[in-house]
Amino acid sequence: MNAPDVRLSQEKDCDNCRSAECASQQRRPGESEEELRQRQALDRKMCQIGYKLLVMSGKGGVGKSTVAANLAASLSASGRRVGLLDVDIHGPSIPKLMGLEEARPEAVGQEIIPVQLAPTLKVMSIGFILPGAADAVIWRGPMKYSAIRQFLRDVQWGPLDYLVIDAPPGTGDEPLSVAQLVGQPAGAVLVTTPQELSLADVRRSVSFCRRLSLPVIGIVENMSGLVCPHCGNPIELFKSGGGEALARETSVLFLGRIPIDPRIVECSDAGIPFVRRFADSPAARALLGIMGRIEEATSVQRQSAANRQILPDT
Ligand code: ADP
Repeated sequence: MNAPDVRLSQEKDCDNCRSAECASQQRRPGESEEELRQRQALDRKMCQIGYKLLVMSGKGGVGKSTVAANLAASLSASGRRVGLLDVDIHGPSIPKLMGLEEARPEAVGQEIIPVQLAPTLKVMSIGFILPGAADAVIWRGPMKYSAIRQFLRDVQWGPLDYLVIDAPPGTGDEPLSVAQLVGQPAGAVLVTTPQELSLADVRRSVSFCRRLSLPVIGIVENMSGLVCPHCGNPIELFKSGGGEALARETSVLFLGRIPIDPRIVECSDAGIPFVRRFADSPAARALLGIMGRIEEATSVQRQSAANRQILPDT
């Protein structure tokens, strides 16, 4: 029996994209009809997203979620259509950081409606569907893969310029699943603190991305120096410059350094994006500079994704 003409059936189904990559999705060896249908559903969702930005770190506590949340907030404030997805299954912090601890997204049919935090900012977190903040999740790799696939495929993201994905620290199942599922264009932003102990882990993250052919957009050095509130002199609490040196060593773009600012902790605890509350602070300006460099580095790919979305009917 001949296999159905997958290319034609997908072109007919897909309202948003008729790109060569998307339309040429042929049935993979051993793939069932249902698996093919599910994969095409995921592809259609991902095709509507200009760029998938995976925010990673080698270690916990270096400010990865803070950077992801504030990047999403500033991209959305600058008029981009943004989705923020938290796939940190064991420690989701986006609900707390965005002041959404009570949020419970609705389901409509087979789809989940993400929380609309601002006109151009949609948020989804595994934390929204866990019974309580203190509940531990004990899941093996395949369960994580399938949950992340659902968050990508079954959430009504709609057309977005960026999907910012906050992954747990390290190179485990969650970033691996994201890298395998999101398709192109996608890339990773690696967050580190300046000291050697943290940098060693980021080297592993760079090598992880390269092995998966996930482009590394660049490295962010967070908690880089503190301005003394009394005398105004810089104090290098965790040293500084390590992230930039690592970027040079690994031939990766250095996106910028964010100083320590105790008000970041206050904002995180209060669920307010720091970049909005203290827009004139050195840390917020540093984050804006990092956003600008990310926009620049991803603009060509975003543009070609956008062109695919507006191709006329053939
Ligand atoms: P991770 O996601 O890497 O585990 P978080 O984003 O949760 O780290 O940040 C850990 C803590 O550090 C939070 O309390 C956050 O408010 C704080 N933090 C992050 N970046 C800074 C900074 N530049 N200055 C001061 N505190 C920061």
